[in-house]
Amino acid sequence: MRNSGDVANSPGVTLIGPAGTLTLEEGLICARRHIHMTPADAAKFGVEDRAVVEVTVNSEGRDLIFGDVLIRVKSSYALEMHIDTDEANAAEVVRGQTGTLSATDATAQLRSRRR
Ligand SMILES: [Zn+2]
Repeated sequence: MRNSGDVANSPGVTLIGPAGTLTLEEGLICARRHIHMTPADAAKFGVEDRAVVEVTVNSEGRDLIFGDVLIRVKSSYALEMHIDTDEANAAEVVRGQTGTLSATDATAQLRSRRR
């Protein structure tokens, strides 16, 4: 389990699929769940780069709180949360799904954790 982008000294991998084969010398990691956002998004949510938050997902009967979510801030990022397939399935989140983050009692919220 590593932070997204922290691939130094990680194992390599060969991916084989219908579009061809790709071999990486390193980079095979289990990425910690994270949210990409711009500095403007970070200001809006009151967080900073490398902050750790919890994200509450309200779904149809499978509400879930994701803890240990790392905030990644960069001007070139788009606001997206990246989780793995098992995590998404646990909350019945589907690929491409959009949501709303809010400090009120909306469908999702961000809570800062002391570091
Ligand atoms: Zn990512």
